[in-house]
Amino acid sequence: MTDDALTPAQIQQIRDRVAELMPQVRADLEELVRIPSVSASSFDQSQVTRSADAVAELLRREGLDVEVVVEGGRPAVIGHLDGPEGAPTVTLYAHHDVQPPGDDADWDSSPFEPEEREGRLYGRGAADDKAGVMAHVAALRAHAGNLPVGVTVFVEGEEESGSPSLGTILEKHGDRLAADAIVIADSGNWDIGTPALTTTLRGGIRVVVRVQTLDHSVHSGMFGGAAPDATTALVRLLASLHDADGTVAVAGLDAGEAADIDYDEQRFRAESGLLDGVSLIGSGSILSRLWNKPSITTIGIDATSIDKASNTLSAKAAAKISVRLAPTQDPLVAFERVREHLEAHAPWGARLTVELEEHGSGFAADANGPVYDEARASFADAWGTEPVDMGVGGSIPFISDFSARFPDASIIVTGVEDPDTRAHGANESLHLGEFEKVCVAEAVFLARLGALRSAH
Ligand SMILES: [Zn+2]
Repeated sequence: MTDDALTPAQIQQIRDRVAELMPQVRADLEELVRIPSVSASSFDQSQVTRSADAVAELLRREGLDVEVVVEGGRPAVIGHLDGPEGAPTVTLYAHHDVQPPGDDADWDSSPFEPEEREGRLYGRGAADDKAGVMAHVAALRAHAGNLPVGVTVFVEGEEESGSPSLGTILEKHGDRLAADAIVIADSGNWDIGTPALTTTLRGGIRVVVRVQTLDHSVHSGMFGGAAPDATTALVRLLASLHDADGTVAVAGLDAGEAADIDYDEQRFRAESGLLDGVSLIGSGSILSRLWNKPSITTIGIDATSIDKASNTLSAKAAAKISVRLAPTQDPLVAFERVREHLEAHAPWGARLTVELEEHGSGFAADANGPVYDEARASFADAWGTEPVDMGVGGSIPFISDFSARFPDASIIVTGVEDPDTRAHGANESLHLGEFEKVCVAEAVFLARLGALRSAH
């Protein structure tokens, strides 16, 4: 790049500074991990308050003006520090709550007592997302006393419980969170040594379809052969949702293509536990199938169980289906397409009711423009290799809330996770070498954004 906003010497200075800071950043991360801030309501919520206070204190020490806000849910922390006159503003997001630890017996060390083994720090929240919190703190420390941009830090306390009060927080405090760029540090990188920006997330809907063929169940010996049973009708209906090769057969759903990243069938088979001889379904590259195309899964069926089976034609049966959607797909439009498909394919004129149980939007970043250029350059500075554009097959619903609330901000989804992190699982861990690079990238990004403005 010829018009780099920072000189190589300036970048090296930030790398050195972050390296110096890492022991304290690590110690502070461990203190956060020792607070069991599980936001699920069956856990002690005073711990979530303790962790909000601990995060608030970390930010206050960096000179931020900090407030702990509670809007009917768990405490969130908002801190702000002005940058130089006219400098861009950046909002840094992470969450301080964690998933329940699960069964202690599944952990090789105590979930809330961090332990290092082979370059990884183990503990609940050691990665998701207390390391995200500390990456923001590290970036602030790297620029202590000389912050190149205005920064607002927003650390949520209920992400792992579905962010129930985020809407209210955005409504009441959203003005304080508005910025030119929003860095959401709650995802991960492609692999050890390969950074990534998460540029797409799939959306999803959950649909319940009920089938009825008879007024009441009847004897299969007397009526079978001429009257259809509801369970068989339901099975035929569900079968219509895919083509023979397993491609989703619902007409009119969006589908896109993933970036060209190496990911072969062997790796997919190993990671998914697919049995020998069972073929993959769908078409196109595997990553496109996982990140950019719709998928339909039957996740539950109500029908007579085998134990209770008798020789009758069932009158009613029902299924719940989960539909993952292309990142740009409007979930309510998708529901209409699915409903139309089901109604058009009702076997033998069976009566259907189709009900939308849940819907969430995906996210497709507008991953272009100067802010994204600087983000990519910062990752390259930290890793020595260009970041890839990664998708996520699941949803992080709050990200679409952010993009709806701040349509003009560049939303950059980063994170500390790698393929071995096991976020939400037993033995969650953080790769400490990669974590330092995450901190460098964020510190460089703030510097690049600040310099961008003075250069133009
Ligand atoms: Zn998270």
